[in-house]
Amino acid sequence: MGAEKLVNGTRLVLVEGDITQADTEAVVNAANSRLAGGGGVDGAIHRAGGPEIMAECRQIGHCPTGEAVITTGGRLKAKQVIHTVGPIFRGRPEDARLLANCYRNSLDLAAAQGLRSVAFPSISTGVYGYPLPEAAPVALAAVKQAIAEHPGAFDEVRFVLFGSQAYQAYAEALERLA
Ligand code: ADP
Repeated sequence: MGAEKLVNGTRLVLVEGDITQADTEAVVNAANSRLAGGGGVDGAIHRAGGPEIMAECRQIGHCPTGEAVITTGGRLKAKQVIHTVGPIFRGRPEDARLLANCYRNSLDLAAAQGLRSVAFPSISTGVYGYPLPEAAPVALAAVKQAIAEHPGAFDEVRFVLFGSQAYQAYAEALERLA
């Protein structure tokens, strides 16, 4: 199961699954600003990747909302983890801007490191409360724009959606993506 669209020569792929199993060169973590680990996808990535990831997070210390930092992938298949901090949804216009920043800054970092395939979870749509039908089009538009800004940099940008509800929201948004 999955959906795919070619954007400027880069495969934009949606799959339902567990991002800790992704075989992309980088996976993105939906972190908190203290890079302290926690529940959801953050906890899953640290559990699967082992303590080396947290050791590097402690050295970095902090990441503002909308920005991104990079660490080792530890025991994950992915070489590196990009940690980005999504906005806590408050229903304000800056929510979408900050969410888009997460995707753009993560892909800027991946391109700068020469990482040609990147897997994202659905940032902010768990504990941070961003409604899936609103987050999905923001996420896809931001990724599409970042791909265009880095011509030839990426073979694949993948969304690994946890559960059918998340997958469906992104599949509908991908169909509408201009
Ligand atoms: P946030 O605090 O940014 O909302 P969460 O981890 O609570 O982060 O949720 C973000 C999204 O990640 C949610 O859609 C959640 O279902 C999803 N998620 C949780 N575990 C995994 C996993 N192992 N792989 C991919 N996505 C996951």
